[in-house]
Amino acid sequence: MLRLIAFLIFSATPWFAGWALAQEKPVVVSSFTVIQDWVQTIGGKGFESINIIPPRSEAHGFQLSPRHAKDLRRAALIVAMSPEFEPWLAAWGKANGRSDTILWLNDYNGIQPPLDQPPNPHAWTDPAKVKNMTRALAERLDKISGTSNSQISYQQYLKDIKAVDSELGKLFGAIKPEKRVFISHHANLDLFADHYGLTVAGTILSGGSAEAADPSAHHFSELLALIRKKKIAVVVTDEGQNDAFARRLTEDAGLPPPLSLSFEYLEPAGQPGDTWVSMMLINGKRLHQALLGR
Ligand SMILES: [Zn+2]
Repeated sequence: MLRLIAFLIFSATPWFAGWALAQEKPVVVSSFTVIQDWVQTIGGKGFESINIIPPRSEAHGFQLSPRHAKDLRRAALIVAMSPEFEPWLAAWGKANGRSDTILWLNDYNGIQPPLDQPPNPHAWTDPAKVKNMTRALAERLDKISGTSNSQISYQQYLKDIKAVDSELGKLFGAIKPEKRVFISHHANLDLFADHYGLTVAGTILSGGSAEAADPSAHHFSELLALIRKKKIAVVVTDEGQNDAFARRLTEDAGLPPPLSLSFEYLEPAGQPGDTWVSMMLINGKRLHQALLGR
């Protein structure tokens, strides 16, 4: 009862209403965990951060629910990778006249790639792109909050990105060029490979999605021939996805079991791999070890 009385008194008082408004932080919604990590690291406590696709969940094939739509409606800013990667968000923005609220981090600088070359949406695996994407995020966060100074935390984070980049660069640079080749599960590591001078010789699933149709027997023999011809020693699978095809492939090729990596999402808070920095280092080091063949 006391609470109710206090509420009635305060709600009737204009200064209190103003105070309450001043305390409300702008809501920033991120599409998946990697972006949420950047929003929280760069935006700090100046924003209320809501994330849509939870830890350990792939963004491919995601469907929007009414609960998520409610969160999106509250957002002062929605941060995502690209309309190709989060088509559900592009559709929501269009249907609700809110496209301007969405910051597409990997917008290819406004230049759409040719249609016969679908863009690779996994830009968070490339530290050079991460530098640009987090700078764009810091600029936009500063625009929606008068009190935030995201530039300082961005400059700080830039050091972390460079540290990750230089550590992985040294590791992969020390591998013999002919051993810097592997097969990936879906087409998510091409940008990572380009950045570190590695080669993705083939993928188990066709298309850019981790949910593509099961590969055929014909594709199996193609990959087996490729492994033998190029002396490929590492087959990567996406953690949490069916690895039966990859296991048969490594068995038939006489290789060690597939290497399970999780570049697609972050782990729940408090666990190794719960930040972009830790996810990149854990997975990068595991790939490095596998390529060395130790
Ligand atoms: Zn993917």
